[in-house]
Amino acid sequence: MPSKLNQAFLILIVFLVFISPANADEVNEKTVEVENIKIKYHFLDQISIKKEPEITELVFKAFTAYTQLFGGLPRDLSGNEYSEISIKVKQGKYLGGEADPQLIILTWANEDMFGYADWKTTLLHEVYHLWSAESIRYKDGREHWFNEGFAEYYAFKTAVQIGLISAENALSIAAFPIGYYSASQGLGQISMRDAGKNNKTKFDNYFLIYHGGWVVAMILDQEIRSKTDGKKSLDDIMAYMHKFYPRDKKLYEIDDILKSIKKATGVNFSEFLDKYVTGVQTIPISNYLHLSDALWSYKFNTRNKSKYKYLYQTLGIKKFE
Ligand SMILES: [Zn+2]
Repeated sequence: MPSKLNQAFLILIVFLVFISPANADEVNEKTVEVENIKIKYHFLDQISIKKEPEITELVFKAFTAYTQLFGGLPRDLSGNEYSEISIKVKQGKYLGGEADPQLIILTWANEDMFGYADWKTTLLHEVYHLWSAESIRYKDGREHWFNEGFAEYYAFKTAVQIGLISAENALSIAAFPIGYYSASQGLGQISMRDAGKNNKTKFDNYFLIYHGGWVVAMILDQEIRSKTDGKKSLDDIMAYMHKFYPRDKKLYEIDDILKSIKKATGVNFSEFLDKYVTGVQTIPISNYLHLSDALWSYKFNTRNKSKYKYLYQTLGIKKFE
């Protein structure tokens, strides 16, 4: 996929439709059309205007990757596919993002956050929400482990697939969600689902929800790949849910996720979710994700690489042989 994406990007044509004069007193607007999508920009400060070409390039790559992943374009509140979005951009002290139907708000910063996130992975996370959060949607906050954790997982996986993050760094970055989940304060006290039930519990248990969910996504993807001999993956579940759970018809909850896993891949994941997502038990991560050994093999013991091929694939690493 990366080479195809790069190729597609090389031949893209950018149409500059309208740009207003840069004036400190007014909001600057600009519309950019890249092959299959139209982006209407609102720059909330002057310095953000310079970021536009980089943002456009990344949004285009993300749109191409996610359209392929979900098997279609994102959908509006009436269920109609769209390829026109608005992006509001501003510089801030901290990274931040928000997604609403057809709208992304990006706050970029020069500093990385939490040791692994930058504005590009933040943007990949928000673009992902145009599908998961806005096209398919949770019934209530208890499914934020899936909504937010899987968005983080796919943001970083996509970053690897489009060449923003190297294979070796992908393995190192995967240690962050494992570490933050394992050290999260609510672990063993409150379940991942209950932690997301309202804004206060979500704020108090950020790492349990985002990083716990990210860990669940990695384990689930790797389990599906190994149980189906590489024939199925988490991608099949996302495409299944996009097809069968349009938000204007039905909102999903954990039973729908379980059903989708079973239908799309044949894997039964109910015991795992019962214990570690609905229940308060701690995921025995070293039973599943042999991350350090996979990294060691990737770098120093390459004859062993094939042993970890499903983990490498889970992280978006293609060249593991
Ligand atoms: Zn999010």
